[in-house]
Amino acid sequence: MLSSFSSAREIQVSQLHFKQVLLPGGWSREVRLSIADGRIAAVHVGVAAGEADERHAIGVPGLPNLHSHGFQRGMAGLTEIRGASSDNFWTWRDLMYRFVARMTPEDVEAITAQAYVEMLEAGFTRAGEFHYIHHDPSGAPYGDIAELGGRVAAAAQASGIGLTLLPVFYAHAGFGGQAPDQGQRRFVNSVDRFARLLEASRAAVAGCTGAVVGIAPHSLRAVTPDELTAILALADTGPIHIHIAEQTKEVEDCIAWSDSRPVQWLLDHAPVDRRWCLVHATHMTGEETRAMAETGAVAGLCPMTEANLGDGIFNAPEFGDAGGGFGVGTDSNVLIGAADELRQLEYSQRLRLRARNVISTTGIASTGRALFDGALAGGAQALGVAGGLAAGLAADIVSLDADSPALAGRSADAILDGWIFASRRSPVDCVWTSGRRVVTNGRHHQAESVAAGFRRRLEGLLEA
Ligand SMILES: [Zn+2]
Repeated sequence: MLSSFSSAREIQVSQLHFKQVLLPGGWSREVRLSIADGRIAAVHVGVAAGEADERHAIGVPGLPNLHSHGFQRGMAGLTEIRGASSDNFWTWRDLMYRFVARMTPEDVEAITAQAYVEMLEAGFTRAGEFHYIHHDPSGAPYGDIAELGGRVAAAAQASGIGLTLLPVFYAHAGFGGQAPDQGQRRFVNSVDRFARLLEASRAAVAGCTGAVVGIAPHSLRAVTPDELTAILALADTGPIHIHIAEQTKEVEDCIAWSDSRPVQWLLDHAPVDRRWCLVHATHMTGEETRAMAETGAVAGLCPMTEANLGDGIFNAPEFGDAGGGFGVGTDSNVLIGAADELRQLEYSQRLRLRARNVISTTGIASTGRALFDGALAGGAQALGVAGGLAAGLAADIVSLDADSPALAGRSADAILDGWIFASRRSPVDCVWTSGRRVVTNGRHHQAESVAAGFRRRLEGLLEA
């Protein structure tokens, strides 16, 4: 086990003072955030820094990372090799399955911890872990059926990142209930066993401050309609995430199976609402785009992974015009960065539309601000928490280094534009989660020990 922070019940009181900080109503100057028991107890605007204040120049809310497969950080950069035939998502998935086949619980914990440390250093303060490896390499459940969910929780606890654990239900290799293949044996459950796994997962996160447990039917490929109905009944009030319409082959297979496209099928057959996060939703018609926006479900966009895997480009302008909300996720964790995801999201739209400043919010000129606000609101909704810096909410805070060249002379929204579009090095300075500082000068407090554990595990895995 990695060493972990002391009990969440330990009460801490502190005061942070920012020259400028992004509050729910916009940028404010000379602001004190009082923190007690992991939450923001009070926000005072227009007050000079006092002796009891820890002083910082620029503060923004921590961003939620709504879609992660932590263990995939271990194979980042290992699949950038061209095979005998042309490479695509499905050849990448074959490699991922071979990696999965070898991983021990210790591997999962150490690799996920590295991913979470990197997320925190990048300005993410909560991870939505779409967790689908459940069983041992033979496909048999561990003695504790939620052993690997517990390892994810241990990684979250050790790093200090907030956790929304999304245990994945996976049962089939393709549409129409096809039998799972060998590469999927560590993922597969019956509905009954999934119910037990979910209960055990709720117990497994008990040590993580502010943890949320939702559910994740993996995709329409992996879940039959009857199974979908059965597992939705187990969701309680937590979030519901599903991979959908990531690949054109998936769309074609769905049409062949049901005469309907994936998003259309889901909206016709499931009670999709604000609790849902539709991850990717890359390939939608205009009609699907508008219908999805109307449900209030969040579009879980993973622009770097979608680019890396050659998935396609989300229809952002039409979705935004219809009132749809989005968040961002690091998904395959090929490169972990909050600013990087937001920049890629905007740049993919610019390339597609041959236009500039595409992602926008009414009344706000800054693209960086529109991206940041969108990802904060949509990410928090998708992870079952409230986001932003306000009294009563978790003290998940990021400070930025005002001396960073990309932020020179900037204030307010221009800070976000400088961070997202113009920083060669991340200006993230300090990061607090639930009121506890876990990153200082851009480095996680346990970065070295976590990286050492990660290296040891990778050396073993890649030798095997
Ligand atoms: Zn994913």
